[in-house]
Amino acid sequence: MQTWLPTDVAQTPSGKDVENILRSCVHCGLCNSACPTYTLLGNELDSPRGRIYQIKAMFEGQQVTRQTQLHLDRCLTCRACETACPSGVQYAKLIDRGRLELEKRVPRSYAQRFLRGALCWLIPSTRRFGFLLELARFMRPLMPVALKRYIPLAQTTGIWPAIRHPRHMLILAGCVQPVLEPGIDSCLARILDQQGISAQALYSGCCGAVSHHLSAEEQTRMRVMATIDAVWPFIEAGTEAIIITASGCGAMLRDYRDVMKDDPDYAQKAAMLTALCRDPVEIVEQLAIDNVGEGRRVAFQAPCSLINTLKLEGRVEALLTRAGFEVLPVMEQAICCGSAGTYSLLQPTLARQLRDRKLQHLQQVEPAIIATANIGCLTHLNTASKSPVRHWLSLLESPKTKQ
Ligand code: SF4
Ligand code: SF4
Repeated sequence: MQTWLPTDVAQTPSGKDVENILRSCVHCGLCNSACPTYTLLGNELDSPRGRIYQIKAMFEGQQVTRQTQLHLDRCLTCRACETACPSGVQYAKLIDRGRLELEKRVPRSYAQRFLRGALCWLIPSTRRFGFLLELARFMRPLMPVALKRYIPLAQTTGIWPAIRHPRHMLILAGCVQPVLEPGIDSCLARILDQQGISAQALYSGCCGAVSHHLSAEEQTRMRVMATIDAVWPFIEAGTEAIIITASGCGAMLRDYRDVMKDDPDYAQKAAMLTALCRDPVEIVEQLAIDNVGEGRRVAFQAPCSLINTLKLEGRVEALLTRAGFEVLPVMEQAICCGSAGTYSLLQPTLARQLRDRKLQHLQQVEPAIIATANIGCLTHLNTASKSPVRHWLSLLESPKTKQ
């Protein structure tokens, strides 16, 4: 499409990116039917094409309001529109730029600023988040049943095997997963150990995804740099791969190269980190897997980060099938479950509608277990699911790997 960005905007690095992306869009609207918010609300302004227009108008100098902010806030950044787009429009990059610009032009209410600031302060800190969750767990018996479902019970960490093999990989723990589901990473470590690979855990905190979701640019850069600094000694020591078992965080790590590309001190390091980054399925699918499924019925919820960002569609399902599970076909697999980072906290009504729609499709096939690949989706779906929702890695545990 044609653009008329003012020269002073078009000549900045960010303005050039925006202009190139806008010009690659041919306004066909093929992305709209893939969009969860357009599917729910039926409003062009809540569709990818509509958001692209609103971002274009803003960068061209037209007035933007809180209404514009609402339509951009409602976007889950699930990237289903990117997958559907035949012209290769880099929508996620565009909405990131658009949101940052909008933050400068439209001040948020005090209540919103407080909520977003509190989330930025609380969630990336394993210590703070862990303390609050412990407190909530203590109060849980006094809560009404509907609220109890939002407070997950404490999970066991599981045995972490000793470092004993020449092959080494690093598992990044992230921020909330060690508190919510500490057993997922140790499960992967045991699977790898059985196959002659030693895994080491690194508790370096949030990868930056939480602040990135909240358009807190400076905090995102700080978290990215802190993660690179923490990982760098392992890269220098020759770690074979850097794995993160939450696909949402894996998607963020793949973006490090782009986030830091203009930083003279971190650009090269970020590119190396991104190059070594792997989703667990990319490692485990290369290993010998025991037949542990025994025909159990599994419905897999494919997180948007896994299919639209990491482009690993179908890989976990194939692995579970190889392990002897009956993987059931699920309708609307490409529609987001509504978790989407902090979305379920900032847009609770839409997030609940998407969760219920997703669960309806997952439960319709009557699975014994629902599996997923991302801690956010797992926690979000578990608040209303009739079947247990687990990380797919924990399904591959055999008596042998549990030893
Ligand atoms: S983003 Fe892609 S699919 Fe959507 S309107 Fe533009 S060109 Fe068409
Ligand atoms: S990222 Fe997801 S929610 Fe946002 S416009 Fe694209 S498809 Fe819709």
